[in-house]
Amino acid sequence: MEGIEPVIHITTACNHRCLFCSRKGDPPESPEEIIEILKNFKYTITIEGGEPTLSKKLFSLIRKAKKEKVREIMLVTNGFSLDRQENVRKMTAAGVDVFNFNFPSHIEKIYNLLTGSKNFRKTVSAIKNCIDIAGPQKTRLTMVLNSMNYRFLAAYAGFVKKEFGKIFYCEINMIKVLGSVRKRTWLVPKLADMAPYLDEGFAAFKKLGIKFVSDGLPLCFMKGSEENNIDACMAASGGLFSASEKAHTPLCTKCLLKKFCPGPRKDYISLYGCAEIKPCRNAQYASSVKKRLKNGQY
Ligand code: SF4
Repeated sequence: MEGIEPVIHITTACNHRCLFCSRKGDPPESPEEIIEILKNFKYTITIEGGEPTLSKKLFSLIRKAKKEKVREIMLVTNGFSLDRQENVRKMTAAGVDVFNFNFPSHIEKIYNLLTGSKNFRKTVSAIKNCIDIAGPQKTRLTMVLNSMNYRFLAAYAGFVKKEFGKIFYCEINMIKVLGSVRKRTWLVPKLADMAPYLDEGFAAFKKLGIKFVSDGLPLCFMKGSEENNIDACMAASGGLFSASEKAHTPLCTKCLLKKFCPGPRKDYISLYGCAEIKPCRNAQYASSVKKRLKNGQY
């Protein structure tokens, strides 16, 4: 089904006002589109919003998905109401298989600024409730990298380990210049400025044994952690890049990792150009990356 991803945006309502929200203004899927998605995708369906737990239609959608024999339902949430254990129990009983929390910072002040809320502590409780009730293997975190949080990536890893212990994994994704961010481009950090913090942060995740995947960062900014790049993993396993939002630059032409990297985000290049991109010309290094990718280490 070309053009349709198994993501159902169930509502535009949200209790947070995330500065980095990439969805602002986009309508939810129509009932016809939802039926089409449930009919055609049987593995994982992602339910997002807005904040999906605010939608009165959530439980009936989960029921429909289960009836259509969808194997896994993932709820992407900011944790609204899940700080109460009975609500986590209700969600798991209804059929939510995985909870993916928007958790953009472990620093309360930054979290509250980024989400336009005062819900840091509630979200931390919600994550802990999911770990206790649904289990660590059913709990994921997403951190959208932006100019307010990238410097603290290593400390974020330390917080995750200390407060949450084992979780399934973290998604560490480059901010998209979409939705609200189009008017707040100051939130988009330059890759070259992020580079040392990414190296330090990814090393911290590995040292602490926390699994992570990353989307939207080109491979030349994930040196030593290429096997944690979602597009590279897809390419290595014979799949396709999830690349409609990314593109190779003229500098990528001679890069030895081009086959595994779809290039930077197009919106990033429109904003800052491609001068920072660093093609890999070292055959020995490229071969070591290929080996790690084949071993599927993430
Ligand atoms: S030079 Fe281009 S293809 Fe190579 S790693 Fe960087 S962005 Fe990817």
